[in-house]
Amino acid sequence: MNISKKKCVGCANCVPVCPMGAIVIGPDLLAEVNREACVECHTCYRGMSFEHLPGGPVRWARRLLKKIRLRFQPDPDLCPTEALEPEKLAWPRIVRSAFSDPMVTHESTGIHGRGTAEVKTNDVTNRVGTGEAGFVVEFGRPGVGVFFRDVDKATRALAGQGVAFEKENPVTSLMSDAGAGGIREDILDEKVLSCIVEFKTRLEEVPGVLSAIKAVAKTLDTVVSLGVSTRCDSDGNDPLRAVLAKEGYDAWRAKVNLGLGRQSNAKSRGTERQA
Ligand code: SF4
Ligand code: SF4
Repeated sequence: MNISKKKCVGCANCVPVCPMGAIVIGPDLLAEVNREACVECHTCYRGMSFEHLPGGPVRWARRLLKKIRLRFQPDPDLCPTEALEPEKLAWPRIVRSAFSDPMVTHESTGIHGRGTAEVKTNDVTNRVGTGEAGFVVEFGRPGVGVFFRDVDKATRALAGQGVAFEKENPVTSLMSDAGAGGIREDILDEKVLSCIVEFKTRLEEVPGVLSAIKAVAKTLDTVVSLGVSTRCDSDGNDPLRAVLAKEGYDAWRAKVNLGLGRQSNAKSRGTERQA
């Protein structure tokens, strides 16, 4: 995102709108975008209204009114001079908007936002089978974000545990070596609001994977959230909860998919349910 110095009048309305704190008022009393911190989510551009007043005269009027202790301050959701200007993004910076702008569709999966339907569609996609655990690990959050160099550290650690990364996931599509968990080098310095890494393991491998995530999370400059799911057996029992309880996690069923959707994976036709 760019802010035109010619148009901006320094009203600061756009500053609190940015979820990454990337917009600041500079020494020239005009707004500017910290390009390292900006994740190209376009929240500022989409979230504000615009008027098309000329920058120069408005700046002059604001200075004059200040002298007589009056203010020209536009409504808080308004940029009076349409100074916010989205850039035409090129590779690799375009990766930022693909993961951070909910209006952008991921090319690899055809899905908006973080680009994955996640394991919650398992009743029809059959990503996770009986005896397996599906992991959803989210890196970053609004206000924090994550660089792909940190995601790379984590995916390499997970690959060391022998996990199978989900193919229908945009982070997997950006790996140059999915076996080693390596993310392609040209995007390691790109920052996004958040991204989701998905993979599965055998149930007996869950403790090792949890320990690996805990250990690597301490070395990352971001926040990490984790979800685990599995399929119930034919009696509706959930074998994952016992595994998690043994590891000291107080787990409960957060969501149960009943399998009422149309199967999209022929292998999954059967009676298994997912918790
Ligand atoms: S809202 Fe517009 S005029 Fe006001 S500081 Fe931001 S970019 Fe400048
Ligand atoms: S595009 Fe997003 S991160 Fe960048 S300045 Fe605008 S709101 Fe902030």
